[in-house]
Amino acid sequence: MKITRCNTAVVEANYDYTYVRIFADNGVYGTGECFFAPGLSAALREMLPLLIGKDAREVDRLARFLWRKGSGAGAVAGYLYNAISGIEAALWDLVGKSFEVPCWQFLGGKVRDEVRIYVDCHAGDNTESWGTMLEEREPAWLKAALAGKPQHEERYEPEMYFNRAKQMVAAGYDAMKFDIDSIVVLTGEELNRPLTRAEIDKMVACVAAAREGAGDAVDLSVDCHWRFAPTEAIRIARALEPYNLMWLEDPCPPENFRDVGEIRALGIVPILTGENLNRRHGFWDLVVNRCCDLVAPDIQKCGGMLEAVRIGELAEMQGIRFAPHNISSPLGTMASAHVCATMSNFVALEFHGSDVPFWNDLITRPDVKGPVIQKGRIPLTDAPGLGCELNEEVARKYAKPGETWFA
Ligand code: MG
Repeated sequence: MKITRCNTAVVEANYDYTYVRIFADNGVYGTGECFFAPGLSAALREMLPLLIGKDAREVDRLARFLWRKGSGAGAVAGYLYNAISGIEAALWDLVGKSFEVPCWQFLGGKVRDEVRIYVDCHAGDNTESWGTMLEEREPAWLKAALAGKPQHEERYEPEMYFNRAKQMVAAGYDAMKFDIDSIVVLTGEELNRPLTRAEIDKMVACVAAAREGAGDAVDLSVDCHWRFAPTEAIRIARALEPYNLMWLEDPCPPENFRDVGEIRALGIVPILTGENLNRRHGFWDLVVNRCCDLVAPDIQKCGGMLEAVRIGELAEMQGIRFAPHNISSPLGTMASAHVCATMSNFVALEFHGSDVPFWNDLITRPDVKGPVIQKGRIPLTDAPGLGCELNEEVARKYAKPGETWFA
């Protein structure tokens, strides 16, 4: 099953959904998705020709080959792993479709038939779009999506958290996440100053409102995006203790894994981290030193679907749970769901596209009708490969200017 050709496409959604497609000489192709990065398409253009003539069935061998070929750009970490992750998923999709086997089967077999989703609610609203250097941008679809919605600071009010939580419960979710770092004014000096009492009180008010809107039966978590020094993170953890959080995410800067370990050791709230780490090696110190309660590899970034399984199993050896980060389109989300279906220490998979109006329309599934996420779950079936196809008629309408479209 020789690889004959590879190409890419990018959809400009809330982030750049970057797709890789790999064709084999049996006439079958597979499609995978990469986490965005500046220069990612250029990197893919240099990497993909290396696969031509290789046997697509040797998925892990090819991933390891690309690890080595890219080692000068970061050895065991760096954005080339975004590219490798999408390539690896495309290969699993290709091999699965060729042998008519679902990807979960290759990864050890599923231990559940549906994958629980937690919905990312940002603050009160999440209608926005970000470029590869995390600058806000305004693709054509965004204006209509924003019409009548609250803007910026208006979103960071308890009432918005309450309404959003209620809305997500009504949509069928029983797990959700809110941002709390955006509640405080971000001056760029957050790490050097203590939070004021009023700032922590505002965070508490927003989380209390989210809890009230969600109800006690819902699992609620909050994200800090690495903003706070350990001292401040401990104050936040203690202040939020009454709200029985599922986890506190990335409370401290990522440079020193022991910082989150300090918070975790207090036992106030479970700590989740790891969305920007690559391969098992990125998680090693966190896991062997028991510095978190949950790992959150991003399956479009960490090195691929099989590597995500290995990260989850490494975590499992220390009693650490598995709740992957995910900002991808439904195609990448399906790849992540196949991984999650096989993991016994899985808790929930992120969904970050609830305010992208065309998110659900980007794929079709051969044997499942309706939205990708149904009552807060993604059902897994026996459909081969990733169990879905990119809906190009829809996706192409949102193609990123200046990028190729599978050419
Ligand atoms: Mg996060």
